[in-house]
Amino acid sequence: MNKGNLKCAYCQREYLDSNKNNPFRKREREVATVDHIIATSKGGKKYDEKNMCVSCEVCNNAKKDLGLEVFLKKKSQGNSLC
Ligand SMILES: [Zn+2]
Repeated sequence: MNKGNLKCAYCQREYLDSNKNNPFRKREREVATVDHIIATSKGGKKYDEKNMCVSCEVCNNAKKDLGLEVFLKKKSQGNSLC
């Protein structure tokens, strides 16, 4: 992953930090995580790049194992996540 130039696929927040263990850890909304578009608990493939995207930790936590469409719908209904 390109450090310092990561962008959340869901809220479009940019410049996420991929180093989760940084002692000067940023707020969770600025931390990059790998999200599985189809959650592995729902049968999504864990190591398939097509099923992976960069997500900030806030979106990732909010999405959990919701389907992508369900999550985006929830998000568009004003349940502000980030
Ligand atoms: Zn986000």
